[in-house]
Amino acid sequence: MPKDRLKIEKLESENLSIENLDLTVGETIDETADWEPLGPTPYPGLTDLRDWDLKLMERYKPQYYPACSQCCFCGFGVCDLSDGKEGACGLRLHDQVARKNFMRATWGVSAHTAHARDVVDDAIEKFGPNVSLNMGDYVDVEAPNIRLVCGMKPETLADLRTVLEYVEEEIVQEVDALHTGQEGEYIDFESKALNAGMLDHVGMEVADIAQIAAYDMPKGDPDAPLVETGMGSVDKGKPNILVYGHNVVGAEDIMRYAEENGLWDEIEVSGLCCTVLDMTRIDQHPKIVGSLASALKFIRSGVADVIVTDEQCVRADTYREAKEVGSKVIATSTKICYGLPDRTDDPVDEIVEDMVENGQDGVLITDLEKVGEVSVKVAQEISDKRENVRAIPSQDELKEILEKCIVCGSCDRSCPNDLPIKEAMEEAKEGNLEKLADLFMNHCIGCGRCDEACPNDVEIMRAMEKAAEKDVKEENFKVRVGRGPVRDTEIRDVGAPIVQGEIPGVVAMVGCSNYPDAEESFREPLYRAARELAKRNYIVTLTGCHAIDVAYFENEDGESIYEEFSGAFKARGVLNCGSCVSNSHITGAAIKIANIFARMGLRGNYKEISDYILNRVGAVGISWGAMSQKAVSIANGVQRLGIPVVLGPRSSLYGRALMGDRDKPELWKTKNKRNLDEEFTIAPAPEHLVQYAESPEELMVKSVKLCIRPADTEAGRQIKLSNYIDLYNKYFNEKYPPDLYMFVRREQDVPMKHRKDVMEMLEEDDRWEKGKYGGSQPTLLDEKEIEEGLGKVQ
Ligand code: SF4
Ligand code: SF4
Repeated sequence: MPKDRLKIEKLESENLSIENLDLTVGETIDETADWEPLGPTPYPGLTDLRDWDLKLMERYKPQYYPACSQCCFCGFGVCDLSDGKEGACGLRLHDQVARKNFMRATWGVSAHTAHARDVVDDAIEKFGPNVSLNMGDYVDVEAPNIRLVCGMKPETLADLRTVLEYVEEEIVQEVDALHTGQEGEYIDFESKALNAGMLDHVGMEVADIAQIAAYDMPKGDPDAPLVETGMGSVDKGKPNILVYGHNVVGAEDIMRYAEENGLWDEIEVSGLCCTVLDMTRIDQHPKIVGSLASALKFIRSGVADVIVTDEQCVRADTYREAKEVGSKVIATSTKICYGLPDRTDDPVDEIVEDMVENGQDGVLITDLEKVGEVSVKVAQEISDKRENVRAIPSQDELKEILEKCIVCGSCDRSCPNDLPIKEAMEEAKEGNLEKLADLFMNHCIGCGRCDEACPNDVEIMRAMEKAAEKDVKEENFKVRVGRGPVRDTEIRDVGAPIVQGEIPGVVAMVGCSNYPDAEESFREPLYRAARELAKRNYIVTLTGCHAIDVAYFENEDGESIYEEFSGAFKARGVLNCGSCVSNSHITGAAIKIANIFARMGLRGNYKEISDYILNRVGAVGISWGAMSQKAVSIANGVQRLGIPVVLGPRSSLYGRALMGDRDKPELWKTKNKRNLDEEFTIAPAPEHLVQYAESPEELMVKSVKLCIRPADTEAGRQIKLSNYIDLYNKYFNEKYPPDLYMFVRREQDVPMKHRKDVMEMLEEDDRWEKGKYGGSQPTLLDEKEIEEGLGKVQ
């Protein structure tokens, strides 16, 4: 539980001299604070919301598809868990799969929370503890996740330390539960994973509101500026510093150094993944090279004179790869040190000299101000000297590379996207580089496995990059800077249309960029889905890799998706919320709909708010690429709030779904929140809480279906069914989806254009029964939970 903490490094006054005081006093839940009454679950511990999780899992049963049937977590094993066998500790296979999901979620929440700790501590060191968490004129509910989970309203950076202490303590308890001989039942591993996910959204919110406040990032600005993205956006004529990772605090020092020394015309700062997304929220000079999929491609291009790494989603071989092309590496996070010497306490000039003159290829510097100066100076001094480094091969070198290829096909077999590399190499040997270039630009996710697999050490990626040299130069698109939170005023405007179903849904596209291949390009399905849904009046919200990758396309008028659609949280809006930690604004928006639109108290009122979201807010999460562990914890947090998630096929390795069973009416029995004596059966919506999609078409159809909610108005249900029918028809070439009978409560639910046909079809269908599904104010809560909650029945 949180405590008040007073830390004073040094204080001298007439009567008092204090040095290194670190004082912790009491617990700080102020039940009398007048901003809102306190709900039943402030600062929940491991099991305080377990009953809510069990209710969710009663309806949405965990399903497991193990990728591996062994456990090798401890020295009692390796244990074979196949065919119903138990491990040495008594764990069964499905328990182990649930445990792995939980374990991944703990890694994810730890990554974001440790990141948040760095941001808050760094911001307090730079700007002091009293920086106000003012999110701008249009945002009063500045921290919906923190208010909901912790029951506190943070006002300054210092308040965020209290929140972090709570989350950090809970993470320790969670990790403890993973130990051999601790938790043993799948259902409780699941509950703990959902708990980790919930904490993750708190941790992410801490990180993002701290950096928004400290660095004056956009505060819910729908018209945030557009910036350049793509490998071609980088000016290769200037000394280049590439920042790489997810934590902007060190990169901010580089930008500050460039600004204070008037160097923006003399150096080029570019970046990969979320760090650069967040940099552009502070200053628009840096260029976004791309997402995770561009990392190895760009590093191997040798364009970067200096690579500054921070944390998360950074390739383990970054230092080794950088050395190959003569780029210098500065590691800045204690979490990624690469075995490099710690030069944090050395003078700047000595470090620069060693890196420029004395062959030091990489250093660890955790003093971020020093990183700013060292990185710029090293880049400036070595840039000219590196002109002879030709990371991209010459024509002659390309010929030599191609000649080594014995056309064995090992590369094809190692490629996760089954790309026809051998065929492209064969054609390239004949002088036609087109296929190789196309693979590089549109289909290769930059994993490097083909190079590793080649028995003849053919540098396949270098060959591809040379073949695509001209296309790379032209890879330059527009992405809107991350806007941060959704404004309270936007929630007021869209609350009713979302809850009543007239805006058919809020779609959150979140995840990593190692997508399965697709006909035109591996990124295209994501763009197609975002555009299709936006055109159909859905609100599309994006963060991280997904936010970057949808920008790689232009419409008929040459506009990127961010130019074609508004950046506002409204129908047809396409919002880049920011980096991974900005995901908290998407869950925050769902929470704010319950709080601002439905006037439901949110302070420590987790179950009631989640129950509202599950039953009334048509929202769905999409992750098309493979998910990192952070994405697993993000998704678990989304699920606990009652928002379903559709995962792309790459995530099937995680082997877990939460599935409803439409054919079991008892699972869909619910009470009327207004009159608990009344019980009714709802249409099975949302049908699942976690499910997979094998194709982009399935992804879209499943996503629109999962936006259906039991409390939709008839007009709203008509709009949602209209989208479901249209997309099903468009992608599966059948006039009507076979499960339409589940979602038609009465004739008025059917879109006018289809009403006659659909009603005729339903009248002949034994499974459909007029009035079978119905009721209003559905709830999963019991009388006591409703009494304890803060909600008004709408
Ligand atoms: S694995 Fe190497 S040698 Fe074999 S086809 Fe691929 S590039 Fe050629
Ligand atoms: S680097 Fe590209 S081509 Fe090579 S294996 Fe990975 S995805 Fe396939």
